Amino acid sequence: MILVAGGAGYIGSHMVKRLEQAGERFVVLDNLERGHEAALRGASLVKADLRDPHSLRAAFARRDIDVVLHFAAYIEVGESVQEPAAFWQNNVVGTFNLLEVAREAGVQQFVFSSTAAVYGEPVRTPMDEDHPTVPTNPYGETKLAVERMLESYDEAYGLRSVRLRYFNAAGADPEGELGEDHSPETHLIPRVLLKALGRAEFRVFGDDYPTRDGTCVRDYVHVCDLADAHLGAVGHLRSGGESLVCNLGNGQGFTVKEVVAAVERVTGLKVGAEVAPRRPGDSATLVASSDRAKERLGWRPQYPKLEPMIEHAFAWFKSRPDGYKV
Ligand code: UDP
Repeated sequence: MILVAGGAGYIGSHMVKRLEQAGERFVVLDNLERGHEAALRGASLVKADLRDPHSLRAAFARRDIDVVLHFAAYIEVGESVQEPAAFWQNNVVGTFNLLEVAREAGVQQFVFSSTAAVYGEPVRTPMDEDHPTVPTNPYGETKLAVERMLESYDEAYGLRSVRLRYFNAAGADPEGELGEDHSPETHLIPRVLLKALGRAEFRVFGDDYPTRDGTCVRDYVHVCDLADAHLGAVGHLRSGGESLVCNLGNGQGFTVKEVVAAVERVTGLKVGAEVAPRRPGDSATLVASSDRAKERLGWRPQYPKLEPMIEHAFAWFKSRPDGYKV
């Protein structure tokens, strides 16, 4: 059985739906601090907090868990610059607690949600997994620290892991049941869509980066494709595969202004691109080479283009103006 830590969050909830479709047995662990119970659609939940090891033990007790998928973390770069202590505690100490409880329970397989933010400023583009890791913000530092923790757990305890370095997760469940519901919402595509719908302000954070139009370049990847990569990682580990680190992106970068233009095209609505100062901690360009995930995990992204990501997210925001609240 699979344990999905953070299964009520944006990416975790899409994973839960994917596991159901694949006929996998699983249980979700989430503290619901930032996740949504409604996003679980009735899936089995143990409410527990990574910072409280006792609460974690309840999730493992009397369950035959063989793989942990770990999505639970604080994720916002800007917040990590303002509040690093919360990030070290939740993302690093919390993951340490989860790993220890998993180890106590005899779990030997772990899939970790890491991030492109571990790389920092690119010395070459697209970045492969051997690119130097020099994070430019505490968020990236905490994810890199966990990656190293996992390496040492493999060497010493034989706990094998796949560390998946997501580039920019985007999109929503194409069936419209799930979507992004962060509060506050800081991510680019949702913010541009919410501006298009007249529900939020949107500004471009910096237009003086060394990129083709001066705005930051990111590699967007559909949330359902991320979920698929996790299924590939589970298969890899269950068939005895060695520990791996894999990028997950589409190898194509879009500037902030290009994303705004794509949203205007897909929705037929006007957004505009008023410019504000840079946001602390942002790298100019993050674009992935994901050849390894394709080779080693058999990953085949279904929605590699920006348009379906925007269409699916737009459908979600239009039909659910209050997100998961009813
Ligand atoms: N961004 C922006 N305005 C916003 C939100 C984001 O210009 O309201 C930019 C941000 O500076 C970054 C890119 O959009 O260059 C992607 O940001 P996001 O927060 O979506 O993801 P990140 O790359 O930080 O994980």
